[in-house]
Amino acid sequence: MSALRSDLAARLPLALALSSFALAGCQQPPEVRYETEHFEIATDFDAPVCAGTLRYLEDHLAFAESELHHKLPAGAKIRLYWLEHSVGDWCHEGAAGCYYPGTRVIFSEGQSMTHEVIHALLNAEAQTSLFIEEGLAEVYSGVGARYFRAPGERPPVDELIWLTPKEYRASELDYALAAHFLAWLEREYGRVATQRIVEVVVAGGGPKQLDAALERTISADTEDIEEIYATATQTTYRGLREDAVPELELDHGVDLSLRCDDDQTLGPLPGGAGGMYEVRRLRVPGSYPLMLDIHLYASADVRLDLIDVDRERGAGRKLDFFLPRPSEELDHPRLIGDDPGGDVETSSQRELVVTPGLYLLFVSSPGYEAEDVLVEASLDPIRVPAPAPE
Ligand SMILES: [Zn+2]
Repeated sequence: MSALRSDLAARLPLALALSSFALAGCQQPPEVRYETEHFEIATDFDAPVCAGTLRYLEDHLAFAESELHHKLPAGAKIRLYWLEHSVGDWCHEGAAGCYYPGTRVIFSEGQSMTHEVIHALLNAEAQTSLFIEEGLAEVYSGVGARYFRAPGERPPVDELIWLTPKEYRASELDYALAAHFLAWLEREYGRVATQRIVEVVVAGGGPKQLDAALERTISADTEDIEEIYATATQTTYRGLREDAVPELELDHGVDLSLRCDDDQTLGPLPGGAGGMYEVRRLRVPGSYPLMLDIHLYASADVRLDLIDVDRERGAGRKLDFFLPRPSEELDHPRLIGDDPGGDVETSSQRELVVTPGLYLLFVSSPGYEAEDVLVEASLDPIRVPAPAPE
C-alpha cells in the first residue's frame, strides 16, 4: 500500500456512481454474501470468508466505537464491498479502498478494510479537515504509525489541517504523516483529545470548532501546533489493535487448528485467493538473543511463518497483525508440517536464534479442509559449548 493515496476522492453520491456505472454498461457491484450484526459483506472473489474474519470485523467496529466514543446508530449496517480484483472500478485510481460519505458503503481491498470501517462509523460529511479524518482512520484502523521525515523536510501540519477538499483532490495526501500526527495527539494528550476532535468531525463542525477543539487539547494556539508537534521524538507508534492478537503461550502445546467455521480461524489469506490462517504474537524479552525451539504438528499443507515485526518495520513496512503481508525479500523462517497422513503424530522442528523484539507466528493452509494443528515453542538461553581442553 502506498503511503500516498487518496481514498476519499470518490466523493460523488453513491446512487449517482451506481447509476453512471449502470449507464456506462459497467459491471454491478457483487451481491451480499454474509450478514453479521453490523455488516453486509459482498466480495469479488469466490473463496469463503471464515468465521474468524467475520468476528474480527465486528470486534474492530466495537473497538472503534469504544475508543472514539461514537456508536453506529441502532439498526444501521455497514455495507462492505470486499474487492481484491476490482476496487479500481469504484475508487480513485491507485486507492486501496474508498468510502462514500453519508451512505456507510465502503469499497475496499482487504488491507484497507479496517481504515474504511472508521470512515463508515464516523460517516462525516462536512469534510472540515480531510487531513484529520484520514489520520483518524489510519490510527484507529489499529495498524501502527511510522514517519521519519524531519520537520523541515515535510509540509507543516498547521497548514495540512486546513487542507480544503479541493486541494486534497488536487494533490496526494501523505497518509503516513496524517497517521503519525494523530497517533502523536492520541499518545501525548490521551484518548479524550481524540474523542473531542471526533465530536467535531461527526457533528460537521467548521474550522472554528475544530480550531477550538485542537486548542483545548494542546492548551496552546493552533498556530503553535507545528512547533509543538516538531518536538515529537517517536518515529513509530505501535498499532492500537496489536494486543488484540493473542500471545503465544510457551512451553506447552497450543491448539491452532484451522476450521473455517470456527471463529478463531481467519480467512481468506491476504489477496483473497482462499485459505485459512491464525496469528499469534511472540515477544522475545531481554537484551540478548535467545534460542527458539519450535515444533509444528500438522499436515504437509500447513505452514508456519515466523515474521520478525521489527525487521519489517525497519524496512519501512507497516504490518496489519490480522492480515499480515510480510515482504518476500526479508525471508522469514518457515516450517512446513510433515505429517503425510494428517494424524499430527510427527512434527517438523527448528531451532532458531531470535533477537529480542516482537514476532508474529502466522499459521496457514492454502485450502479449506479442516487441519489439526499443534504448535509447541520454548525460549531458552543460547547454550555456549564448553571450550575444548587445550
Ligand atoms: Zn481514508
